[in-house]
Amino acid sequence: MPRWDYAPAPEATDIVTVKDTYGLFIGGEEVEPLSGDYFKTINPATEEVLAAIPEAGLEDIEAAVAAARKAAGTWAAIAPADRAKYLFRIARAMQERQRELAVLETMNGGKPIKESRDIDVPLAGAHFFYYAGWADKLEFAFPGRNAEPLGVCAQVIPWNFPLLMLAWKIAPALATGNTVVLKPAETTPLTALLFAQICHQAGLPAGVVNIVTGAGETGAALVNHPGVDKVAFTGSTEVGKQIQRSLAGSGKHLSLELGGKAANIVFADAPLDQAVEGIVNGIFFNQGHVCCAGSRLLLQESIATRVVSKLKRRLSTLRLGDPLDKNTDIGAINSRAQLDKIKELVGVGVDEGAELYQAPCELPEHGFWFPPTVFTGVSQSHRIAQEEIFGPVLSVLTFRTEDEAVEKANNTPYGLSAGVWTDKGSRILWMADRLKAGVVWANTFNRFDPASPFGGFKESGFGREGGRHGLEPYVRLT
Ligand code: NAP
Ligand code: MG
Repeated sequence: MPRWDYAPAPEATDIVTVKDTYGLFIGGEEVEPLSGDYFKTINPATEEVLAAIPEAGLEDIEAAVAAARKAAGTWAAIAPADRAKYLFRIARAMQERQRELAVLETMNGGKPIKESRDIDVPLAGAHFFYYAGWADKLEFAFPGRNAEPLGVCAQVIPWNFPLLMLAWKIAPALATGNTVVLKPAETTPLTALLFAQICHQAGLPAGVVNIVTGAGETGAALVNHPGVDKVAFTGSTEVGKQIQRSLAGSGKHLSLELGGKAANIVFADAPLDQAVEGIVNGIFFNQGHVCCAGSRLLLQESIATRVVSKLKRRLSTLRLGDPLDKNTDIGAINSRAQLDKIKELVGVGVDEGAELYQAPCELPEHGFWFPPTVFTGVSQSHRIAQEEIFGPVLSVLTFRTEDEAVEKANNTPYGLSAGVWTDKGSRILWMADRLKAGVVWANTFNRFDPASPFGGFKESGFGREGGRHGLEPYVRLT
């Protein structure tokens, strides 16, 4: 068969200006860190240093929380329709600067440009549009109740969807009249710092949004600051538990969006070619750095061999490489630490006796890369069927009946999402009733919409983001 290759189609980076050194965004201004400390942020696809980023210390957190507190009264008091105008302005500025945001997101995080351009950035803007619409309609969101803001919100987010997670956190908080201090992940601070410029551009009053950069310690200092009224955290279950313990008895409100180990369940009557696309999207989208990734594939036994062979054939056509290339399907792993974690768990999978398949592809010389990987012959007790790998690694299990599929799908401490592939509508509803997951996708996977709530059960966390439900964690109802 002739093999057609794609010519390189790299997106130009000249739309982005990366400064050598950044400041913190506190009280509406870019300020040098009082800590005096900086760390380097890199491009994970090349390991090139992009910029020096402040490592915010206790005094910086103090200043940021104070700025948010100072702004809280006036921000809560302005007419809701006027508050909405700021959110609409932010949303429009994000749209205007969409290409810049997408290129920067890809440079700093390693995700393919076609994902940052077509998914992350447009969805982030859509979140601001959506919550701008709610700002003056809270009486309809909570009929007969009075919805008051909580005050100062500490928000800590991970590196897999840096700008999108920022939007999920900031948009509902502002719409309901809160002020925020947000800490982006250590490895992906750049779009949050560009967002700070956008707040400035939108004329947002000083102190309503503050951005403090740093690592885990900065995050811990922020969530534990006594001046904070509400904590919203997205990240690992381990850190989520730590935060929950440290906040116990403090009276602070808390919402947690944590890890997942989703089952993507394919029945024999499903449209198999579509299902294969859904499986690929489910686990290889964003290199599998997705909390709701379909990392456990449950195939009905009668079709298992066929689906696995279709899947392997499809994997051989995925293009891995330069994330800035518009044809790239699989970009770079976000960090060396994450790559090490993936390699470790894949090693465990092999040791435990699962059968490894990796798509034939050349890995670039520099940067952090891992080929699309599928494990067959996985049993439920294998660590690769239990633990979140957070990388492009799929574990395949089989089942015979609906009951067995439900049993296996729910056999995890997590409960964030699930997928069901079948031709039968009644079976979709039957399954959705029984799957213990915050989101159940039917004949699709990894679909997001600002109007649709997202969140977990069990160790995947509590509280919802998106939709009318996403307002609730940010209001006190009286
Ligand atoms: P992580 O280590 O929990 O980090 C998340 C954020 O918390 C980062 O900003 C991190 O800073 C910060 N942090 C670390 N230790 C902290 C502490 N003791 N107190 C306060 N903040 C702290 O998670 P990650 O490794 O970056 O992200 C991957 C995990 O997040 C996966 O398990 C994934 O499932 C989960 N996730 C869940 C969702 C969801 O919506 N449910 C979405 C995305 C990711 P550093 O960057 O310096 O570590
Ligand atoms: Mg971490």
